[in-house]
Amino acid sequence: MPEGFLACYNRWAMVEITPESTETTSNTGVRVRFAPSPTGYLHTGGARTALFNWLLARSRGGSFILRIEDTDEERSTEESTNAILDGLRWLGLEWDEGPEVGGEFGPYFQSERKELHLKFADRLLKDGHAFVCDCPKDEASDERPKFDENCRERPLSEQLKLLAKNPALPLRLKVDPGQEIAFTDMIRGEVRVSTDEIGDIVIVKSTGGPVYNFSCVIDDATMNITHVLRGEDHLSNTPKQLLIYEKLGWKPPQFAHLPLIVGMDRARLSKRHGATSVTAYRELGILPEALVNFLLLIGWAPKDDREEFTRDEMISAFSVDGIGKSSGAFNTEKLFWFNGKHIRSLTDEEYLRHIFEFVPNEWKKAKRDDHIAKVMLLFKDRVTHFAEIEELAWYFFRAPEEFNEDAWQGIIAGSNSAAMVLKEIPAALKALSEFDCEHIEELVRGYAKDKGLKLKDVIQPLRVATTGDRFSPGFFEMAELLGASEIAKRSSATLAKLSADN
Ligand code: GLU
Repeated sequence: MPEGFLACYNRWAMVEITPESTETTSNTGVRVRFAPSPTGYLHTGGARTALFNWLLARSRGGSFILRIEDTDEERSTEESTNAILDGLRWLGLEWDEGPEVGGEFGPYFQSERKELHLKFADRLLKDGHAFVCDCPKDEASDERPKFDENCRERPLSEQLKLLAKNPALPLRLKVDPGQEIAFTDMIRGEVRVSTDEIGDIVIVKSTGGPVYNFSCVIDDATMNITHVLRGEDHLSNTPKQLLIYEKLGWKPPQFAHLPLIVGMDRARLSKRHGATSVTAYRELGILPEALVNFLLLIGWAPKDDREEFTRDEMISAFSVDGIGKSSGAFNTEKLFWFNGKHIRSLTDEEYLRHIFEFVPNEWKKAKRDDHIAKVMLLFKDRVTHFAEIEELAWYFFRAPEEFNEDAWQGIIAGSNSAAMVLKEIPAALKALSEFDCEHIEELVRGYAKDKGLKLKDVIQPLRVATTGDRFSPGFFEMAELLGASEIAKRSSATLAKLSADN
């Protein structure tokens, strides 16, 4: 072997491989990784993969590693990396190691490890497990299985000559045809694939960049990853990666391929099913604990039929055995319901802290915080996600301009007593000595009794007049916060519309 092997070939590194950076199996304990490509947002599917990895690490006293797979320069963006990091932190899925950035662990970036990947490509070439391929072809056909006798059997010295003439040649792994690759997936059981379906896969492209399957193996191996839990869409990559482990003489990790997340119609989850990114759920006012609990149950089931888990309970209950083979459906309604339950378990203080972030500025300008807080607390038992608050509580901050047609017809226009109620109650409310919930209730109940009306025949017209519809928090609490003169104003406007209609 000439000194300065591949020196002619300056795309590839010439550094000696040091033992610490490679030979890998001296690990102790579970080491898992989440390896997203920063080409978009943090998808709910990705978040679930991260969660399952994190849980496996936490439940087994192991380490959770974050590796940003940013080797696709054209598609990778810093914005996407930040969205992934923020999303994981928000979900509480902190990673355990990485280069220090501002006193915290940063992630590992795959692009910074290219030199290491290429060193192993060199090694495979030297050892005769990889070869330079000069078949005329465009790289788009890399996916097609191919065994090329001519290139495979060329002596190394000739391969190097070829490279010296034309460095833009890919490096392929020498794969034996007609062999079976078998592995046991922790979720799917035994998987068998023939090398005939794989061929001599490219490991370094003609541009000099290692391909995903190659970088992934080098990184997983040199990071001592013990378990690879990733989406089922990577199942076809695993046999290729196993061949690379084999040629490098390394013990592969255990693999578990998670079934995809689908929508309620069983189609692959997409925008058409609603929000698909973690950021979007954050913006809708979903609590991270609720999202994590919800993601846990997509594809994983506990031994009992429990649904609600604290973080610690998840950690102790989780195991890969509980992950099912079939795809899990993402049911947004259920997420909202779940989130509502989490909201109700917050203290009032926590609830207010969260919901204030969603209170529109114009409300904040119009009313004092303590008033807004009282309004918000009326919705604590009905809000399912914080962003809904504007739609739920607007009538505390402005009068209705329109009325729900059914409510108008059934409760105002079609009632004999509504006009009387809307005239008399506001006047009586104005005269109340103490304007609080209890006194309002006493007054309204007394009025209903005196007039021989049902309580709802008094309350509903007032509710429609003040909110435009028939649903709101309890009327007495609401009335206390709206104030007597606002109720009077809205009641008169309703009466004016009623007489204009007649
Ligand atoms: N970077 C790959 C992706 O985002 C994941 C690779 C893996 O987990 O092995 O799909």
